[in-house]
Amino acid sequence: MAQKGNIGITTENIFPVIKKFLYSDHEIFLRELVSNAVDATQKLKTLASKGDFKGELGDLTIRVSVDKEAGTLTVTDRGLGMTAEEIDKYINQIAFSGANDFLEKYKNDANAIIGHFGLGFYSAFMVAKQVDIVTRSCREGAQAVKWTCDGSPAYEITECERADRGTDIVLHIDDDCKEFLEKNRIQSLLSKYCRFLPIPVAFGKKTEWKDGKQVDTDEDNIVNDTEPLWTKTPSTLKDEDYRKFYRELYPMSDEPLFWIHLNVDYPFHLTGVLYFPRIKSNIEIHRNKIQLYCNQVYVTDEVENIVPEFLTLLHGVIDSPDIPLNVSRSYLQSDANVKKISTYITKKVCDRLQSIFKNDRKEYEQKWDDLKLFIHYGMLSEQDFYDKACKFALLKDVDGKFYTYDEYKELIQSAQTDKDGQLVYLYATDKEAQYSYIEAAKAKGYSVLLMDGQLDSPLVGLLEQKFEKSRFSRVDGDVIDRLIPKADQEQEKLAAAEGEKLAGVFTAVLPKMDKAEFHVETENMGENAQPVLITQSEYMRRMKEMSRLQAGMSFYGEMPDMYNIVLNADHRLVKEVLDDVNSKVAEQLQPIEAELKGLHARHATLEEQQRGKKAEEITQQDRDELKKCHDAIEEQNNKKKEVLAAYAKTNNVVPQLIDLALLQNGLLKGEALSRFIQRSVDLIK
Ligand code: ADP
Ligand code: MG
Repeated sequence: MAQKGNIGITTENIFPVIKKFLYSDHEIFLRELVSNAVDATQKLKTLASKGDFKGELGDLTIRVSVDKEAGTLTVTDRGLGMTAEEIDKYINQIAFSGANDFLEKYKNDANAIIGHFGLGFYSAFMVAKQVDIVTRSCREGAQAVKWTCDGSPAYEITECERADRGTDIVLHIDDDCKEFLEKNRIQSLLSKYCRFLPIPVAFGKKTEWKDGKQVDTDEDNIVNDTEPLWTKTPSTLKDEDYRKFYRELYPMSDEPLFWIHLNVDYPFHLTGVLYFPRIKSNIEIHRNKIQLYCNQVYVTDEVENIVPEFLTLLHGVIDSPDIPLNVSRSYLQSDANVKKISTYITKKVCDRLQSIFKNDRKEYEQKWDDLKLFIHYGMLSEQDFYDKACKFALLKDVDGKFYTYDEYKELIQSAQTDKDGQLVYLYATDKEAQYSYIEAAKAKGYSVLLMDGQLDSPLVGLLEQKFEKSRFSRVDGDVIDRLIPKADQEQEKLAAAEGEKLAGVFTAVLPKMDKAEFHVETENMGENAQPVLITQSEYMRRMKEMSRLQAGMSFYGEMPDMYNIVLNADHRLVKEVLDDVNSKVAEQLQPIEAELKGLHARHATLEEQQRGKKAEEITQQDRDELKKCHDAIEEQNNKKKEVLAAYAKTNNVVPQLIDLALLQNGLLKGEALSRFIQRSVDLIK
């Protein structure tokens, strides 16, 4: 008896369509066929356990084999098999409407089409020109049958011989898919998709070296671990088991920091193990390490729309039959189950971190540096995560001591509140480079945080938003007393005119630098502080940092670095310079100063006259007058500058002080550096 007919697909040419549109994912045919074999085997086991199948189960190993000569790939199982009627029902009648519309819509998404239509079995036609099913049902006395189809909608069923129950799916591999007859290719596909299937899958025999070549042994080459760690009860597992499983998954990675065993039955099913990897730097290389499984069948390692973005930095396995695989990826995000799953995982991660922090703070602190990138990323990207993590996120000071946000606030509150009641968090980004600034802050009794992580700069911005009446200032942002200005600090100030003179002298010897601008000012910093200090405006520095990370801010990137050169008016050397200037150039400066005084007075009067007048009420003569006065002031100022610059040339201490300050900040280079060295040598003589 031979039955002939057409497969119930409304579209005549479904197979070319499958081939064409599903091109990129051809390899998943193997996953589909092996998981069908697993399903058939598990169904048989279920029947047996309920007493509906009374025969011997025997060896249930699924076997995959390739025959290069015959050009076939075969998947064989000893599952429940099919009768001719069952083939008709489950294989032939795949009827669906609007197929073309759907294929058109989801043509880039093989998983969607295959899952949606139950095209699992038909994915065989992505690589085969003909497929045979040779099967015998597990029912007593069942007749074995063979189904053949050559890729056209026409099929044929004939009776045949098969010694045992079960199914062979035989693929006559297409000429342009010969790669699927290569042992290595199949071995690697099995390792990718079938590694944790619950029924043993054998691919040929294990081999050994004998007489100078690889030969087959009697032992099956089993490709899978049928009881992967995540399917076991957590209480039966030891730390070492988790570590071992991690090494199996990621042989090239460092030991994980912590892990979480996920296990939930309601309102969705989900199992899995997530690991916290050590993320020292470069977030990108840590992504896409979570593997998604559906009942132990590998689906994908792209879980972006299934877990919140920051969790994609975790490693491990998630297994859930409740994640819809048959919808397009963008649709996933709005799926109710996926949302619940995502929330659940986030909560679990928080709980785990919280409990390690509570129960073993020491261990937690030790691992903080490896963990912080992950936690900071979460805080920056998920409001919910921030709300929980702010209880266990740590701040580290430059001496390596850790504090929670609350603890740190408590610590610095009394000393580091400025006159306006703002709490000032001081931080360093480079312990070495900012050493002297850190020391200066410490000498004041202040604490300095170390913020040298990859995400610390955006984190500072975030914390400034979250912490009330607080700001963050890098220690080298200004003179320490101005970083945290206090009301009671009315110190004696250098007269403005004296300060101007000093600034003029020091400005004259500043080296010219590309992309750097200096502004010289004086400040009373105490006689023990350094004579000259270089600071960098917090605002400009942050803008420039941000411009590196964000498009559309390149304007700031183009700006030169702006530095303040602060002369310490209390320092002996600076005082000596000022005294020397006064004694050497006072005579020269006097007429200029006198002239300037007169000019400034005149300028002020002229301006006063013109204030409040409308543009048309001011005569051209008035305008010219003001301009003349302005130019005259400029001229005198330039004269003054020249006098001070001429003086600066005669003083060896001034360039030496400037260069020392530049040197301390790594800004002294090239010719300027070698001049400094020469001058220093001369000074020793
Ligand atoms: P799905 O697995 O989603 O049901 P498939 O297209 O993969 O869809 O398979 C269609 C049906 O064919 C299966 O539900 C099953 O009834 C039958 N089938 C496929 N492969 C086998 C097999 N190896 N043994 C027994 N039945 C099978
Ligand atoms: Mg299937």
